[in-house]
Amino acid sequence: MKFSAQTDRGRVRPSNEDAYCLEVLDAGAGRALLAVADGMGGHAAGEVASALAIATLRERVLTQALHWTGDDERLLGLGDAMVAAHAAILAAQGQDPRRAGMGTTLTAVLIWGEYLYIGHTGDSRAYLVGAEGGIRQLTDDHSVVGELVRGGSLTELEAMQHPQRHVLTSALGTQGRLRVDLQATLWHPGDVVILCSDGLTNLVTAAEIAERVRLAAVDHFDSLARELVELANARGGHDNITVVAARRGEEVRA
Ligand code: MG
Repeated sequence: MKFSAQTDRGRVRPSNEDAYCLEVLDAGAGRALLAVADGMGGHAAGEVASALAIATLRERVLTQALHWTGDDERLLGLGDAMVAAHAAILAAQGQDPRRAGMGTTLTAVLIWGEYLYIGHTGDSRAYLVGAEGGIRQLTDDHSVVGELVRGGSLTELEAMQHPQRHVLTSALGTQGRLRVDLQATLWHPGDVVILCSDGLTNLVTAAEIAERVRLAAVDHFDSLARELVELANARGGHDNITVVAARRGEEVRA
C-alpha cells in the first residue's frame, strides 16, 4: 500500500479544526486505519471535538481490531468506536461550558486486506477511485443539501455553492439523533480510497479528484494529498482542507 495525507488551515479560517488519522496496522497484510474529522463549535471547541474523535477512534481500533473476526465484527467494532467517540465528546461538553455544542464529522476506513470497512457520520466524504479511473462516492453527506441532492432537487454543482451547505443532519457530539452509516466493500489492486473534508469537496469536483489520482499514478502517490489541498487553496481555500488517501498494492499477504 501507498499512502498520502495532508491537512491545511486554508486561506480564510484563523485555525484548523480538521483532524485526521493515518495508522498502518500491518503493512504486509494490508491493514490500516484512515480517518478524517471536521470539527465545529466556538472558542476553539471544534479543534477539541475533532481531536477527541480521532484519538478515541484510534485507541479503540488499535487495541481491539486484531480480536475482530469477520465482516460483521469489524463493522460493528468500527461503529462502536464511533459511538465511543460521540460519548467522549458529550462528556467533554459536560466538563466545560465553553465546549457546549461542539461536534465533529467522522469518516473512517479500516483497510483489511481486500476489504474496506467504512464508518461515517456528517459531511466529510470517502471516495473510491478504481484502477481504471472511475470514481465512486462511498458515503452519503449527512446534510440538508446532501438530502436535496439525493432527492434530485439539487445538482452536485449547485450543492457546492449552496448557502446552507454547512448545515449537518448528523454529527458526533450533537444532541439530535446520531446516524452512523456502516458498510463493507471490496477494493482491488491499484484502487485508491480517499477521505476528505468539505473544504476540498466544496471547491474540487469528484471528476477532478479522479484526474489528480490518475496523474499522481504510483510514483508520485505521496504528493496526491498536497496537490489536492493546493488546488482547493488556489480556488480560495474558504475552509480547512484535509485529504487522506491509500492505494492498494498488487499483492496482499493472506
Ligand atoms: Mg469543513
